[in-house]
Amino acid sequence: MKHTKGKWTCTKISSMDDRDFEIHATGIIFIAVVKGEIVGIPQVEAEANAKLIVAAPEMLEALKEIVHLDDNICCCTACKIGKPIIKKAEGINHPNHENYKRSN
Ligand SMILES: [Zn+2]
Repeated sequence: MKHTKGKWTCTKISSMDDRDFEIHATGIIFIAVVKGEIVGIPQVEAEANAKLIVAAPEMLEALKEIVHLDDNICCCTACKIGKPIIKKAEGINHPNHENYKRSN
């Protein structure tokens, strides 16, 4: 599973409900809306959620640099913590994913 490439950014929506945040890739490709107070999440928390989502692609790439992806039996701390997160981010731990049976 591959996510949308490019730098992800978040901007406060400038409309009637300006407490939500939009996530874009490369400034133009719409990814998502992060809801805030309308769903009971304080605006500062919604903004923190949006910033976390925006950082996710870079964190995933950084994690892939740290773990030993070519070593299936390595049990160093980076691999123990990082490999399950990479699998979660790329969707191959989900029972409905086509790669699930191959990796388990
Ligand atoms: Zn390792």
